[in-house]
Amino acid sequence: MAIEDSPHYAAAQGRCHYCRHPIPRGHASFDHVVPLVKGGLNVTANRVIACRPCNRYKSDRTLDEFLATPWLAARRSVPPRRWRNRGHYPRPRK
Ligand SMILES: [Zn+2]
Repeated sequence: MAIEDSPHYAAAQGRCHYCRHPIPRGHASFDHVVPLVKGGLNVTANRVIACRPCNRYKSDRTLDEFLATPWLAARRSVPPRRWRNRGHYPRPRK
């Protein structure tokens, strides 16, 4: 089943759980709130809909670590309509 057809996606109204930007069909992904590498379980309660940039940047950060990143704050401040323009993706900083 495509992610876009899942109850998760409908419940999230097609928006990223983290940055709240609308996610175009075909670009949604599941993120594990508690990363699998940190003991998170691959269960519904531990999965949220996330856009790919958020998912990629969150990587194996914990939720608290991710919410505290300047990257996410910058991303949330970008108007969704301009978000598709690649130039507005904040560059991940390690
Ligand atoms: Zn996002």
